[in-house]
This record gives sequence, C-alpha cells and structure tokens, in this order.
Amino acid sequence: VEAIELVVVGAGPCGIGVGASAQKVDVGCVLFDKSSITSSIARYPTYMTFFSTAERLEIGGVPFIPMSDKPTRREALKYYRRVVDEYALDVRQFEEVLEITRDGDLFVLRTRTNTGMEAIYAARNLAIATGYFDYPNKLNVPGEDLPFVLHEYREGHPFYKQRSLIVGGGNSAVEAALELHRAGAIVSLIHFENQLDARVKPWILPDMAGRIRENEITVYWRSRITEIHPGSVSIVNIDTAQESDIPVDWVLAMTGYTPSPWMLRSLGVSIDDATGIPAHNPDTMETDVPGVFVVGVISAGYQANHIFIENGREHGPKIVQRVLERRTR
Ligand SMILES: Cc1cc2nc3c(=O)[nH]c(=O)nc-3n(C[C@H](O)[C@H](O)[C@H](O)COP(=O)(O)OP(=O)(O)OC[C@H]3O[C@@H](n4cnc5c(N)ncnc54)[C@H](O)[C@@H]3O)c2cc1C
Repeated sequence: VEAIELVVVGAGPCGIGVGASAQKVDVGCVLFDKSSITSSIARYPTYMTFFSTAERLEIGGVPFIPMSDKPTRREALKYYRRVVDEYALDVRQFEEVLEITRDGDLFVLRTRTNTGMEAIYAARNLAIATGYFDYPNKLNVPGEDLPFVLHEYREGHPFYKQRSLIVGGGNSAVEAALELHRAGAIVSLIHFENQLDARVKPWILPDMAGRIRENEITVYWRSRITEIHPGSVSIVNIDTAQESDIPVDWVLAMTGYTPSPWMLRSLGVSIDDATGIPAHNPDTMETDVPGVFVVGVISAGYQANHIFIENGREHGPKIVQRVLERRTR
C-alpha cells in the first residue's frame, strides 16, 4: 500500500480543520470517522443554539452566515458539510480506526466500516482528532447501569409528566432542565456546588433562576447521589451528611466528558498523570512521538472544556506547517 502523507482520525470540526489546511497546500490527506462527519454536533440536543458566534466556528475561511448571530445545531451541520464539499476533503465516513501500529517510519492503520469491511492503510503522519463524546463522565455509583440512567440528552418530549432528576450544574444540565420543564416533566436537579457553573450561557440564567425561585424546578444543592435503585435515588448533603431518597422515573447525568487517549498511548505518546494532557508542542501540536499530532479536545486532557471549536480550529494550520517541514528532513 502507498503511504498517505497525513491521516486524520476523527472528522469533527477540528479534524476537518486539519483536512482543509492540508488541501490548501497539497498535502495528501485522508480523514476517517467511525460515524458521519461532525457526529458530535449531530448528537447535541436537537434544538441547541451555539454559545459561539458563527465567525468563531468557521473553518478554512469558508463563511458561515446563520439566520441570527448564534447558529443552531442544524445550521452548523449544514455549514460543516459545505466545508467538506468546498475543500473536496477525502473523508471515509463510517470507517472506524481500530488499531494503529508502527512499521519503521510509517503508521499502519487497521479499519472497519459499518458494513464490516476491514482495510489496512499506511500513513507518514497521523493527526488524532477523536474528541470526547464517547466518554461521558461517570457518576461511579451503584445502579448507574440501570436503563433509566442516561448520559445523553436530545429532547424534552419523552420526559412529559416524568419525574426527571438532572445531575450537574453546567450548561448542558441547565438547558436540559429548562427544556424538560417546558415539555411538562417534573424536574429536579442535583449539584455538588451551591450555585450553577459560571460557564452557563448568561442569557439562560435568569430563566433558570426564575424556575428555581418559583419552585418549578427543585434543586438539591451541595448534594451527591450515593446509589441508584429501581425507581429511586439515594442522595446525601455534603455539608450536613443528611441522607434522603428521591423517587424518579429518569436520571439524566449531564456531567461532561473526558477524552480517552487510548490511541495515543498505544503509539507511545506520554500522557501526564495529573492533567491527562498528551505531551505535545503547542506550536506544532506534534506529540513526543514524531509524526503523531493531537487535534481538538483530545489535546486538553481532563480540562476538556479548555479546548473547543473556537480554539481547536487553530490546530490544523500548525499541524500542516509541521508536516511540510517533516517532508524535507
Ligand atoms: C451541547 C454542546 C454545545 C457546544 N457548543 C459549543 C459552542 O458554542 N462553541 C464551541 O466552540 N464548542 C462548543 N461545544 C464543544 C464542541 O462540540 C467540541 O469542542 C468539538 O466538537 C470538539 O471537536 P473535535 O473535532 O475535537 O472532536 P469531535 O467533534 O468530538 O469529533 C471527533 C470525531 O472522531 C470520531 N472518532 C472517534 N473515535 C474514532 C475512531 N476510533 N475511528 C474513527 N473516528 C473516530 C467521532 O465519531 C467524531 O466524529 C459544545 C459541546 C456540546 C456538547
């Protein structure tokens, strides 16, 4: 097999950014995604609006002009499809990278498609842009595997008249709480702090504060879940150690995500124990294994919220610059 100059694993917005940069300077580049392009955005809550303005989500200089200043999920999906078209990116969708090994200077990838076709490819450079959406932060309590405990949220409708306990105090938790409330769910929220996160979109905070004040949404502040049972949840107040049981139909754990660096680790990239950050040069995004790059949220380790589309899109140009330098070694 002839080696591909640059393989990108993951066709999220940041991976697409690498593809667009490569295309500009004729670096041969193939992207693989085990799902569709920007599958993470496809998995966002259906009626979600970005906190970023459109221009900060743009890739490769393709203009993004939504109906209002903050784009919707649907507009973003359409936009990123257009970026892939405009740059004629070679994206192999529904082809999962299962394993990467070394053969001298080359990286050898083993892949499998959704229809079960397996293939082998060789690459001279490898950009890992696998994101974090497959790895929601677990509550790590007994009963978490019960079928009414969800780690993903799409729409309020299924929760109509259902007792729904939302876990977390971040933006996703607050948005889910409000949507469920509007859809007629009986909503409560449990959070280990005594206030909501500072990062909650400022324009939804007054609505949430109002719902809490009017007792339309019950909040268990400074509390944690200790166990989930069929039909109920045991919680404890962190300050008073007081325990109680809440009857529930659904638990929605909106507790964020942490990327898994298994692919990087298998290639020998060092991962910092304390931060989870893969060793890399921020100017080139190249890891301590020459020719292996990190892209997007996977470069942020446990602080997954520090890298998002707005800053992760800057990785593409840096990586391609370095790939060009490596040509002339
Ligand atoms: C509700 C919500 C709202 C958000 N709003 C904003 C916002 O307003 N502004 C902003 O900048 N950010 C926002 N974010 C964050 C943003 O979605 C992420 O930062 C961004 O998706 C990260 O991009 P990425 O390319 O690093 O990874 P991802 O978008 O997660 O893409 C990774 C891709 O890799 C693929 N993949 C994984 N493993 C493999 C494998 N083994 N083989 C092949 N493919 C693989 C996945 O299928 C996926 O398509 C939001 C996130 C959420 C959840």
